[in-house]
Amino acid sequence: MDAPAAQRPDDVGTEQYDVVVVGAGVVGLAHAAEALDRGLRVLIVERDHRAVGASVRNFGHACVTAQTDRLLDFAMVSRERWLRYADAGGFFAVDSGAVAVARSAEERAVLEELSAGREPGQVAMLGVEAVRTHLGGKADSSVVGGAFLRDDVRVDPREAVAGLAALLTERGARVLWGTAFLGHEPASGTGAGDGVVHTTRGRFRAARTIVCVGHDVDRLYPSIAERHGIRRCGLQMARVGAPAGRRITPAVLSGTSMLRYPAFVATDSNPALRARLAADAPELLDIDANIMLTQRPDGTLIVGDSHRYDRTMDPFLSEQTSDTLLDAIARLLGAHGLQVVERWLGVYASAPEPYLVAHPEAGLTLVSVTSGVGMTISHGLAHAVWRELDGAA
Ligand SMILES: Cc1cc2nc3c(=O)[nH]c(=O)nc-3n(C[C@H](O)[C@H](O)[C@H](O)COP(=O)(O)OP(=O)(O)OC[C@H]3O[C@@H](n4cnc5c(N)ncnc54)[C@H](O)[C@@H]3O)c2cc1C
Repeated sequence: MDAPAAQRPDDVGTEQYDVVVVGAGVVGLAHAAEALDRGLRVLIVERDHRAVGASVRNFGHACVTAQTDRLLDFAMVSRERWLRYADAGGFFAVDSGAVAVARSAEERAVLEELSAGREPGQVAMLGVEAVRTHLGGKADSSVVGGAFLRDDVRVDPREAVAGLAALLTERGARVLWGTAFLGHEPASGTGAGDGVVHTTRGRFRAARTIVCVGHDVDRLYPSIAERHGIRRCGLQMARVGAPAGRRITPAVLSGTSMLRYPAFVATDSNPALRARLAADAPELLDIDANIMLTQRPDGTLIVGDSHRYDRTMDPFLSEQTSDTLLDAIARLLGAHGLQVVERWLGVYASAPEPYLVAHPEAGLTLVSVTSGVGMTISHGLAHAVWRELDGAA
């Protein structure tokens, strides 16, 4: 083991940054990008040798249109950033929209209500044939229609996070992979104008440190995590072959998604939809499913997901949950079975509030997205956090 940073006082001050960002998931990278826009000198510290957290395990779906209020504002900023960064960094992003598939009158009522409350074209109602076309030519025979959510975009999560880190490096940020953050000493303790950041590879001086460690916020700041009710949410996911090589450009959502995203949940029609799903598909509500899918650039489909909550997440994947999810996806697509390529457990931070921004020490900011929308809101959230920091400076 390397000597702990505290035993190497001589390395303090050898490297100085305006900002140290901890965590190279989408939240950390979004904050680093905003810092570069301000002409700041940026160091990103990531404990793994490449990002393997929530940011690479998700659907890559910026679920913009189904957000409300502040989250919708953040999502609209993120939408613009994803498309611009992908263009500059040469990674995959598509202004794809999303299709919400309705298979009951209750699901269609939720979509109609949302459509009526939005500007024309943002949530466009679809007939059965249009839904089938979006799904690559085939769909569940019970489809009664759907809606096209215009402002959603898609990235490939595995490519996007690595691509964004590479773009930020090109723009002048330094990324120190395989380096864990151990703690922060505020400026007053050092006698200098900067704080000191302790890592497993020595110490760095920085005017500002932004800690974006996702669900591991409880490992570093347990009392803040407890105060905000942060737990881990575990999701079962899989990658499957597209039936008959179908092309499905938009992200695809279903009735269970309408129980989850705020713009659907806020409709007056939502309680009736919940009652209908409880009667028709209790097995999906039992695993708190969100039946949805996105297509990767190689044509395979990312499919999921289930949700379970705990402070410590057991790593074991339930085969029964997996079967339930795969059956539901196959049914949605009107397919007879799916060929699984990979399965994994995703974990994200979950709390009653959708995100956490805290300033536990002078010069230190803690940011965590505490709901399943980090790919949707991170760039907009980072923009807002930096505007607040600019104002405080
Ligand atoms: C299965 C699944 C599906 C999802 N689907 C979607 C979706 O379609 N759309 C959407 O908007 N959101 C989705 N989400 C949510 C989204 O992925 C997360 O909100 C987002 O990725 C969180 O980003 P993050 O940077 O906070 O976390 P992470 O990506 O987990 O990054 C945190 C990083 O911090 C590093 N770290 C931790 N501790 C330290 C330390 N001490 N020192 C240095 N580094 C450290 C970790 O190694 C990690 O790389 C999904 C999540 C999952 C799990």
